[in-house]
Amino acid sequence: MKTEVLGVAFDNLTPEEALEAGIALAQAEGFHYVVTPNPEFLRTAKVDEAFRQALNQASLVLPDGIGVTYAAKILGRPLKGRVTGIDFASGLMGWMARSGKRLFLLGAKPGVAEQAAANLTVAYPGLTVCGTHDGYFKENEPVAQAVRAAGADVCFVCLGAPKQELWMRQYGPQTGAHLMVGLGGALDVYAGVVDRAPEWFQRAGLEWLYRLGKEPKRIGRMAKLPLVLCDALGERIRGK
Ligand code: UDP
Repeated sequence: MKTEVLGVAFDNLTPEEALEAGIALAQAEGFHYVVTPNPEFLRTAKVDEAFRQALNQASLVLPDGIGVTYAAKILGRPLKGRVTGIDFASGLMGWMARSGKRLFLLGAKPGVAEQAAANLTVAYPGLTVCGTHDGYFKENEPVAQAVRAAGADVCFVCLGAPKQELWMRQYGPQTGAHLMVGLGGALDVYAGVVDRAPEWFQRAGLEWLYRLGKEPKRIGRMAKLPLVLCDALGERIRGK
């Protein structure tokens, strides 16, 4: 059952249920992809039809960000809670390490995915990172072929939105991978280029505030959070 929030249909799952669903998809026939929309995604999806479609056609749509769960609450369709992309990916890597599945890391500046791979194989003993590629390529097909040649089961696609969602939808099926997850700046976090907020901030739903303190230039992007809440309020008042 999907829960619609401002034009995007979310899966209403706990983090445990989301992980279970992700693992099932990684083992299923065919190609599947996961998206993790935050308030910024919802604002872009409002005006970008192709992006909205790419989000709604994903096999799993997880609410990454407190702004999405607040908006759902305002709309009178509360979600079970937030499922962050990074937490979902952690669970998935734990499972991959245990079950011998192969992970490909795609995205970020040259050198970052390799550093992320080195760190992740220490953090998740037994994890096989079968290949990496930076996110600043001009030709798409050779990158899809690189994922195929590496024999990847799962691929983390970290090109930022909306690029990563459009890329997964268009090129994912030719890679032979069963599951792709769009994870934004996750490779920078794994590589230690930027650090994740301390747990206290995460628990309080204030990860955005921590990131804003670290990267003040994000203020324009973060302003999307109150705008999304206003959109939700507007819809509620209009009785949609
Ligand atoms: N990126 C990329 N190719 C591009 C544009 C961006 O690989 O053409 C990478 C960028 O280096 C960064 C990530 O995509 O690692 C986007 O990070 P951002 O902080 O925008 O994502 P968020 O976590 O906020 O969704």
